[in-house]
Amino acid sequence: MDCKREILNYCHSIGLDTVGFTKCRVYTELEGYLCFRKENLLESEFEEKDIKKRINSCEYMDGGKTIISVAFPYLFKKDHIQKDIKFSLYTRGKDYHKVVEAYLKKICGYIESLGGKTRYFVDSNFLPERYIAFQSGIGFIGKNNMLITKRYGSYVFLGEIITDIEVESDIPLKSKCGNCSLCQTACPTGAICGNRDSNKCMSYITQKKNVDSKWFPIFQGRLFGCDTCQEVCPYNGDIIYSNIEDLRPFNFMERVDLNEIVNIDKSTFIEKYYNTSCGWRGKNIIQRNAIINALMLGKNVEIKNIKSSYIKDYYNRLLHVLKL
Ligand code: SF4
Repeated sequence: MDCKREILNYCHSIGLDTVGFTKCRVYTELEGYLCFRKENLLESEFEEKDIKKRINSCEYMDGGKTIISVAFPYLFKKDHIQKDIKFSLYTRGKDYHKVVEAYLKKICGYIESLGGKTRYFVDSNFLPERYIAFQSGIGFIGKNNMLITKRYGSYVFLGEIITDIEVESDIPLKSKCGNCSLCQTACPTGAICGNRDSNKCMSYITQKKNVDSKWFPIFQGRLFGCDTCQEVCPYNGDIIYSNIEDLRPFNFMERVDLNEIVNIDKSTFIEKYYNTSCGWRGKNIIQRNAIINALMLGKNVEIKNIKSSYIKDYYNRLLHVLKL
């Protein structure tokens, strides 16, 4: 049996069925596009500024030949969930970095047993992971810039493994967006029209440290992240739910206690929210977003003694916006 089939069989045996392969190489075809975004200030602060680092997958392993892209579905049944105040769907379970890492480590162990060298990544390199997933044939990139897979739509996390084993690459899929523009119309800030400005993406704005007051009215219940462009996508309609139990949402992330988050202390944050997929961003960002939503939506919550000057600044700005 060839190595590719063996690796695929192993992935299937641990419940992963959306796996593809592409060459480890320099993605020169992306350089012009990334330079354009940089020159036109369309990059977000979370993006690596050095374009060479973003396009050269060979930098990550001497003798690396193949990148394996793996999709991890995270959507569970969601008819019952709260709609007015919400965490983005991807944030609700156990920190996906840890969950995905555990799977990738297993796959690496298997590849090493076949004699290959490996290195795995989950949000831990500067490479264009959606483009790599597209090149690996596991989905197409929609107009909303998400990777859209056949079985799970765009509700997937991505992980990559670089190996020195050479296997045949998969064939990229053609875009299926056609004339559809539902995500572009639905986006609350127009971030995916024209040149796609990452700085206008509400998911990014909810994660930024410094948020301009002009965005406060657009939070509209978003506590962290934004699913609008995914929710309207027809390819997210008839999809298969996740089989990864470790990614199942916590109850407290589905039925939000706004009062608790508005007044949250460090120990409650660490005990509960830190272990979720948005915990890495820290207490202040989530507390700030909760206060923005509580005040902008006129929720009946009592904001008690605010100690942090960072939170206090937002609170005062909100009072100013609301002319209270
Ligand atoms: Fe493509 Fe339509 Fe989905 Fe947007 S909503 S990603 S245009 S199919």
